[in-house]
Amino acid sequence: MSFENLGLSDEVLRAVKAIGFENPTPIQEKTIPEILKGNKDLIGLAQTGTGKTASFGLPMIELTDFAVKKVQGLVICPTRELCIQISNDFNNFTRFIKGAEIVSVYGGAGIVKQMSSLKKGAHIVVATPGRLHDLIRRKAVDLSNVKYVVLDEADEMMSMGFKEDLDIILNQTPKEKRTWLFSATMPAEVSRIADNYMDSPVEIIAGKKNSLAQNIEHLCYCVREKNRYEALKRVIDFYPDIYGLIFCRTRNETGEVAEKLIRDGYNAEALHGDLSQMQRDAVMKSFRSKTLDFLVATDVAARGIDIDDVTHVINYNLPDDVEAYTHRSGRTARAGKSGISIAIITPAEKRKLAAVENRTKVSFRQEKVPSGSLVCEKQLFALVDRFKNVDVDKDAIANFIEPAYEKLKKLTKNEIIERFISMEFNRFLDYYKNAEDINISDAPQKRKASSKQAYTGNMKYKGGKTSRLFIGAGKLDNLNKGAIIRLVCDNAGIKSNHIKKIDVLREFSFFEVESGYADVVISSMKNVNFDGKKVSVSMSKSRRN
Ligand code: AMP
Repeated sequence: MSFENLGLSDEVLRAVKAIGFENPTPIQEKTIPEILKGNKDLIGLAQTGTGKTASFGLPMIELTDFAVKKVQGLVICPTRELCIQISNDFNNFTRFIKGAEIVSVYGGAGIVKQMSSLKKGAHIVVATPGRLHDLIRRKAVDLSNVKYVVLDEADEMMSMGFKEDLDIILNQTPKEKRTWLFSATMPAEVSRIADNYMDSPVEIIAGKKNSLAQNIEHLCYCVREKNRYEALKRVIDFYPDIYGLIFCRTRNETGEVAEKLIRDGYNAEALHGDLSQMQRDAVMKSFRSKTLDFLVATDVAARGIDIDDVTHVINYNLPDDVEAYTHRSGRTARAGKSGISIAIITPAEKRKLAAVENRTKVSFRQEKVPSGSLVCEKQLFALVDRFKNVDVDKDAIANFIEPAYEKLKKLTKNEIIERFISMEFNRFLDYYKNAEDINISDAPQKRKASSKQAYTGNMKYKGGKTSRLFIGAGKLDNLNKGAIIRLVCDNAGIKSNHIKKIDVLREFSFFEVESGYADVVISSMKNVNFDGKKVSVSMSKSRRN
């Protein structure tokens, strides 16, 4: 099947060609002709990396009347990064359409400029829910002429607490509009949106429901908790050309892991919700340009990251929400490439791994953590290969060869090789000189009695019990329910459905979490940044109402 057979116009086909897309991806092949009929609601079950942006973008552009300067298309997505990326894609898709105006609006950037862009007129608006809601409140955007709405990464939007914003936004759009919803998974909240806002949607599945790309290999390494970081190092050292995303459950953990990696000589940075937008952009830029080899991120912070060449996704800790494994792994093996997704687990987490396998229908291959000498061998071969294949610009070095030769001429060939290897390789040899075997056998481990057990993410909600927590920000700080959910999920690494009743008051707020999660929320939310203000969470002293 080629793009020419999908019913697209010449201008759009030219743009597709200019971008370099040769053939449609499976989701594009199925979705574009359906949407072009113009009268269908649609649910697309697809991961990022499947080409879904073009699958809704190209037909939305076809159906837009660019002679009429009114907002006709609305794309809502969970994060600023995704918003920017989608609007860039749309700008590329419309490059041969005169006067096409795509405006993106998202939080973390000046609202005034976005308001003035909207005022100048837009045909298609790409937005994050919180900011769009804000713009609606300020009457800065008119959605009364919207004909097509895309809800992209709907499951992410739900788990980030955007439900209320979405309800308000969708109620501002005309009843007869068409809605196209894209989601990697279909949790109950997403099905509810589909039930409430969509009319007999066509369902399109790219790959299997809730399943991952076929070209990802899933590996796991089982070690004791105290060896988790050592295992991470061995694993990343075992893949000399690794360009990886390392997932942690909490903001604190990302900071700790990134700090240790930097101290140990790796190019790594942490990406979490506490960074300012400028810091976040700088980290992303370094990762994108491969100045950084590793990004250590929380699930929330990594949403919308769209980098095609990530070779490995490493679950330093498995996600609390097993479905999140799908999103994490989907950050590798993009655009037809293959990738490896790795989970580092402790024996106590084997049940959780089984839950991931069960839910996402992948099977993990348990691997032995490589020994020190195996890591060294792998690094050595990589070094020798790089050496053998290095580009030699004879002209550029011509003047330096003679003096270098003079200096080295007394050394034998063997001595030169020995010195070259030692110079580059001593770091590994030194580190792994006395490396122990950190694998644990499959025999059942004895549980250590400990009153102060570390949070393993394995705690189960044992029914009904919640703890009421206090947070030192309220309506005056622009805190709302969605923001509390996002703040807690990002920092404590728990899933939104573990958060129960939320009361936002003037200067402070309360929220309930399932009791098993209270400690991790409190310990990971000391002085966290909310909109420039440091806030902390503590156990509420007030009585429950
Ligand atoms: P998406 O799922 O929309 O984020 O797309 C993932 C990546 O695939 C992006 O880098 C797109 O530019 C690329 N892509 C999308 N459609 C095609 C296509 N038909 N052929 C080649 N690459 C594509």
